Amino acid sequence: MIAGFIGLGTMGAPMARNILAKGHELVVFDVVPQSMSSVTLAGARAAASPRDVAQRADFIITMLPDSPDVERVAAGPDGILAGIRAGSVYIDMSTIDPATTRRIGAQVRAKGAEMIDSPVGKTADAAVVGTLTLMVGGNAAVIARCRPLLDCMGTDFFHCGELGAGQTMKLLNNLLAQALGAASTEALVAGVKAGLTLDTMLRVLRTTMAWNNQLAIAMPKRSLVGNFEPGFMMKLAHKDCRLALQMVDSLGVDAPVGRATLASLDEGIRHGLQDMDVGAMLKMREEQAGVTVRLPQA
Ligand code: NAD
Repeated sequence: MIAGFIGLGTMGAPMARNILAKGHELVVFDVVPQSMSSVTLAGARAAASPRDVAQRADFIITMLPDSPDVERVAAGPDGILAGIRAGSVYIDMSTIDPATTRRIGAQVRAKGAEMIDSPVGKTADAAVVGTLTLMVGGNAAVIARCRPLLDCMGTDFFHCGELGAGQTMKLLNNLLAQALGAASTEALVAGVKAGLTLDTMLRVLRTTMAWNNQLAIAMPKRSLVGNFEPGFMMKLAHKDCRLALQMVDSLGVDAPVGRATLASLDEGIRHGLQDMDVGAMLKMREEQAGVTVRLPQA
């Protein structure tokens, strides 16, 4: 069994290294050639294009930024569809809109191959240690064939439904996670401005309905210790919320808190924070309020 991996960025490179570490043969491609080096040094073979990957691999994985990137890599010139063999499986692990997933899935099936979607949850740290959450959509028998590869990258596995259901779950997850992050940031900055200590606020919040994993995990690791390096880039968080709201709108469901979250990320991007971790929202709110909210450094 040969696996292929396209898109070796913050998430893709460590995910691909975990596939290699479990002894699988791997062929890789990234549009930025130096992005491939950490994975080729670990034993993967470099391919010349997505089509080349698809011709050589039985399972083809993509981990790309956004829907147009997946569309280009799958269906563009020299794309996966130009090389995929009957019986192969295409696994898209990027976070994109479910309508694009289903459209590409139909084109993959027309080639006699199969597609599943498996966007991931948690952080870049979980990609490194292989403990991602996998939100999977597609046919159960096809997914079962993919499990040996998926299990190299994640430990929390959820079959969410038919093709595209993984993306639906992931977009709703990220809209909620970003809403919690934005609201938690605002509360901490306002609290410090009002004279409360961060320690007091965290001790109180931990006991109430306000507690969440942004406060418990993400913020203490990054923003609250002044680390704004990605991580999860603000422009990707913005993309996820935009796609989530598009999907929610198409369902005829109103989401005013979601819209406010996207507006907050718009503001961060206007401040030039797009390539920083989404936690840099704290830096922006601190500057506006004229306060600093930091955990004591060990
Ligand atoms: P990234 O920008 O670091 O990596 C994307 C990679 O894709 C880059 O190496 C880029 O060169 C490559 N690429 C782009 N266009 C390409 C093309 N046409 N052909 C080949 N390679 C191409 O992004 P990331 O942080 O690794 O995120 C990837 C996906 O995972 C996104 O959809 C993101 O929303 C999702 N995600 C990210 C995180 C996170 O914490 N970073 C967590 C969960 C999910």
